[in-house]
Amino acid sequence: MNPEVTTRIAVWLAWAKKTVVFTGAGISTESGIPDFRSPGGIWSKYRTVYYDEFLASADARLEYWRQKSIGHRDFAGAQPNAGHCVIAQWEAAGRIHGVITQNIDGLHQIAGNQNVLELHGTARQILCQDCGARFDADPLVAEFLATERVPACSHCADGRLKHATISFGQALPGDVLEKAARLCEQADLLFAIGSSLVVSPAADLPAVTKRHGGRLVIINRETTPLGAIADEVVHESIGPTLAAIARRCATVISDS
Ligand code: NAD
Ligand code: ZN
Repeated sequence: MNPEVTTRIAVWLAWAKKTVVFTGAGISTESGIPDFRSPGGIWSKYRTVYYDEFLASADARLEYWRQKSIGHRDFAGAQPNAGHCVIAQWEAAGRIHGVITQNIDGLHQIAGNQNVLELHGTARQILCQDCGARFDADPLVAEFLATERVPACSHCADGRLKHATISFGQALPGDVLEKAARLCEQADLLFAIGSSLVVSPAADLPAVTKRHGGRLVIINRETTPLGAIADEVVHESIGPTLAAIARRCATVISDS
């Protein structure tokens, strides 16, 4: 990474009043979870089960559980990588005010972040669509894999259980979206990390920070449509990039 760019970003981070981190699937590829675009990723192999279909049809629920249970293995064994760990250390040190993520893998929380807004929910939990009860995903996925029968809610007897993620055709949670927009408005520095930044709200949130006078740093090994409005763009791997910024930031602070 160009040392001048590292220093510039590290200085912004050291002196920012409110830094927010926004992440997409790219931050978890170094943990072995394929992103949306990877050919052969689980996301590209199966037919989409839309939310309405899931609610209406037992066959659709069976198909959904088959897909999700296979996909669950990708998440269940994955561990946070260097990028997640740097972001967790920044939160522990009071250097960032929160993480907004599109990811459903829960790796930010496992790394130690507490202030995480999950725009697309979490695959670590199962949510009853009828009574709202929540369950740990692991045992229910294991039960499905052993029986090939869609589990029913134990709280309301036979409620429809689904991963606590946002399905195609389902609205994003308004309260979470609202909080994310607020954070982006208040941020004087926003890192947009590992997102293709093409689909809303990912495509819109960084622009919110820019409109309110904050700086935008994009880290993505490919170009994104928001590169033109960013203050700095780093086209390199996320883990080593964040580690380099963290090291430089520590020296900026100790020299001041
Ligand atoms: P995306 O797949 O559209 O884009 C990922 C971006 O990250 C790409 O632009 C790619 O160039 C970049 N990237 C990947 N690995 C990188 C690395 N190691 N270093 C630097 N850049 C890297 O992701 P998105 O914008 O988050 O949209 C994907 C959608 O699919 C989201 O809705 C998300 O919820 C879902 N999804 C989630 C997961 C997960 O939870 N880990 C995984 C796949 C998809
Ligand atoms: Zn229920």
